[in-house]
Order: sequence, then C-alpha cells, then structure tokens
Amino acid sequence: MNCPSCSKKINPKTIRCPYCKALLVSKEKFSSVVKKRKEKSLEREKKDFIKSGRNTLLIVGGLNTIPLFMYLSQGDDLSAIIQGTIAGIFLGLGLLATKVPYAALLSGIIVYLLVMGLSALADPESIISGIIIKIIVIYYLFKGMRAANKFKKKHKNKDILDAA
Ligand SMILES: [Zn+2]
Repeated sequence: MNCPSCSKKINPKTIRCPYCKALLVSKEKFSSVVKKRKEKSLEREKKDFIKSGRNTLLIVGGLNTIPLFMYLSQGDDLSAIIQGTIAGIFLGLGLLATKVPYAALLSGIIVYLLVMGLSALADPESIISGIIIKIIVIYYLFKGMRAANKFKKKHKNKDILDAA
C-alpha cells in the first residue's frame, strides 16, 4: 500500500503515514485506536510493575527464611519465632501486592525497618547478625519502592496502583 498523500510505501495496517503524518483513517477512528493502544500499554506496564513488586516481597520473604532455619538449628526459639513472623509477613505482603502493590511495598519497608530497630534496641549485636541478608533485603525493598515511585510519577494517578 502507498500513502495517498505522499505516495511512499507504507504498512497497510498503519493509521497514520510515518513519513508525511497524514491520517489514513477518520479522525474519530484514529483517536479511538490511539486511546486503545495507550490503555493497552498502561495495562502492560501495570502488570509488569505488579509482578516486580510481588517478586520483590516474595524474595524478601524467602531470604528471611534462611536465618529462620539457622535459629531453629541453634535451638533459639524466640529468634526463630520472630524470624518466622517476619518471613510470613513478607510472603503475605507478596500475595497482597497483586491487589495493592504500592501499599504492600511501603508496608514491607516499614515492617522491616521497625523490626530491625526494635531488635537493635533489645540487643545491639543483633544488627550484625545476618547483616548481608539485611543489606540485600533493604536493597531490594528500596529498588521496588523506587520503581513504584517512578511508575506513580509517570502516571500521576495513585488510583491506577492502589484502587480499592
Ligand atoms: Zn504519507
């Protein structure tokens, strides 16, 4: 097919000539197709974002089961209960992330910092225990949060993410 306006060869499915920008369909059809495409790409972006948020939280939950097994093998029941709760919270938030990705990520960061702060108050040496896992966890959480903020800024509409 050739463009009726500039006669260059174009894809027959195209709705606007890529060379001279002439519309090849009615104005109404053009705007409805553009709108549909925008909605589709937003939908895809949202899906990717939700997937990455969910994966972040599930990874963090999984990482937190490592010290759990360590405490269990040492017979440190109290630490094991605390660690198991943290792992459970993150795995739960990971499941919630498919519904409310932003809120789930934010809750994850708050919970993690809170637990770390409280255990540091109770036992300052606890900061050192599993420090590598802690650093990895915080890195993942903030990376997820940054992606969330970027997504939100781009769409300037929080409802897209955390619609009830
Ligand atoms: Zn043209």
